[in-house]
Formats: sequence, C-alpha cells, structure tokens
Amino acid sequence: MSEEINYKKLIVDSGKKMVGSGLTVETWGNISAMDRSTGLVYLTPSGMDYSAITEDDVVVCDIDGNIKDGFRKPTIEKDLHLAVYRKRNEVNAIIHTHPIYSMVFATQGRDIPIITDEAAQVLGDTIRCSKYALPGSRELMENCAEAVGEKANACLLNSHGAVCLGKDMKSAFKTAKILEMTAQILYMIEASGGKPAGISPENIAAMQEMMKSYGQK
Ligand SMILES: [Zn+2]
Repeated sequence: MSEEINYKKLIVDSGKKMVGSGLTVETWGNISAMDRSTGLVYLTPSGMDYSAITEDDVVVCDIDGNIKDGFRKPTIEKDLHLAVYRKRNEVNAIIHTHPIYSMVFATQGRDIPIITDEAAQVLGDTIRCSKYALPGSRELMENCAEAVGEKANACLLNSHGAVCLGKDMKSAFKTAKILEMTAQILYMIEASGGKPAGISPENIAAMQEMMKSYGQK
C-alpha cells in the first residue's frame, strides 16, 4: 500500500544500499521515488555522502520540479528523474549509478542487447545508450527520456552511467543489478573473442508474458 511507505526513509536506506552494493562510488549517482497518490517525488540531496544522509536531507518536489519540502539542494539530475516519471506512468523509483561494466559500454556509446533470460525478464528491451550531453543539462534530460523509450527498464547515459527504473525501489535495484550483470557478461564474451548467441524476439516476448504471473500468488 503506497500510503504506508515512508518515502524519506526509503531514500535514506536506498542510498546506503546503493553504496554498499558497489554500484557507484563516493557521492556519484542519485536515487528518487515517486508517490503517485500525492504526485510528490523524493530525491537524494546533491553531493552528500550516502552513509551520512538522514531523512531531513531528502528533498521533496512536485512533478514540475517545485520544491515542496527539505532545505538541501536536490541532485543535479532532478529534472532527468522527473522527465522519466512524466514519460512512464508505471515507474515509481529510479536509481542512477556509475557501475564499471555498464560504463564500459556507456563510454563507447554502445547499446546493451538482451543476451540472457534474466535480461529479457527484467530489462524489458535493448538498453540503449543516449547521445552525449553535460550532467544536469536539459539536453541530458531529453536524451535520457528518448533512450529509455516506452519499454526498457534502463538506459545508458553516454560516457556517464546508467539510469535504472522500477515499479518500486526493490524492482529498480533488481534492474540495476541485472543491467550490470548483463554488461559484465557481454564484456567477458567479447574479451574471450566470442559473440552472444542471441535470443529471438518471440522468446523474449514469451518470457516477458511468463513473468506477469511468475512466483507465488
Ligand atoms: Zn551521474
């Protein structure tokens, strides 16, 4: 139930989890969650150590970016998060990180295709790499929304990092983990002189259908 979520606590806990997971280093990367019942977006503050932030440091804004609560400066990628929430109604959590293997492809401006069953089930579509734009710019926000498209649960930001989406924070972390794993596998395939065998569009669609009813009721 969305009304039971303490969104500020969710952001604080997720920041610690992001750093602990090795998905990013220092103060890079940022996290947000959206409460669709109130239209409010909760964001990590700009340039603060994730192990030290408290609920008071979380910045709250509306979908147009007007600050509603909090005294910190929000992450410089605030508008990028908002653009994704505007484009994709089913997305309620976003994690932006700079993980090594995803960066191998982001720095080459390369897409990451669906090469494993997990990627088909979790990533949703080919993970496209955006055109380059400066951090925090309007252009980066537009390029990110374009790269993420209608179906993919993540995109790469050219020479910068990854943006991972989920219907909730747990799903966004799952996306982040599977994206980095897929990038690592692709890197290792190429390093060993190989090529991924590939999965047919029919089988990708079948797995995505299967996932809708997967697990316990
Ligand atoms: Zn970044």
